[in-house]
Amino acid sequence: MKNQIQNENQIQIQNENQNQNQNQNQNQIQNQIQNENENLNQNQNQNQNQIQNENKFIEIQNENQNENQNENLNQNQNENENKFIEIQKAWEILSNQKLREDYELKNKSNILENDSENELEQDAPLIGSISIDDMDWDGIKNCFWYPCPCGGRFEILEQELDLGIDIAICDSCSLGIRVLFEVITEDK
Ligand SMILES: [Zn+2]
Repeated sequence: MKNQIQNENQIQIQNENQNQNQNQNQNQIQNQIQNENENLNQNQNQNQNQIQNENKFIEIQNENQNENQNENLNQNQNENENKFIEIQKAWEILSNQKLREDYELKNKSNILENDSENELEQDAPLIGSISIDDMDWDGIKNCFWYPCPCGGRFEILEQELDLGIDIAICDSCSLGIRVLFEVITEDK
């Protein structure tokens, strides 16, 4: 009897052990399944994240492309505007140049006309007139002379007076002075 009980007990223990083992195994399997599921979930999440990230990347790329395209458009617009302004400026300068050239030509011809008139009349600008009586005689140069404000001498040769020239020119600057022939009137 005692043996039977012992045996039964042993069997019970064995059974219990078996049950425990089974439970453990079940638990292990469950855990494994759970782990796998978790892994799967994790992977899915990771994949989703990756896909989301990729989508974001594509979005950002598209945005960047759009921005670049816009920038290119703006640049092209700016370049076109700049070109337009350059062309406008060049045109203005050209038309201004034409105007300036016309103006300069007119001025030059005026100056030339004035010059030729001056040349016919006299070489130097006159500062006034002087009586030949107030001039000094230079026997070496055979000329009358009068001090110029510049420190030089207004000189007029006797031959020039004989030719009817009445302008004495300074020998160091370009000024001239009209010589009045009072001598002639005195002679009369
Ligand atoms: Zn002078």
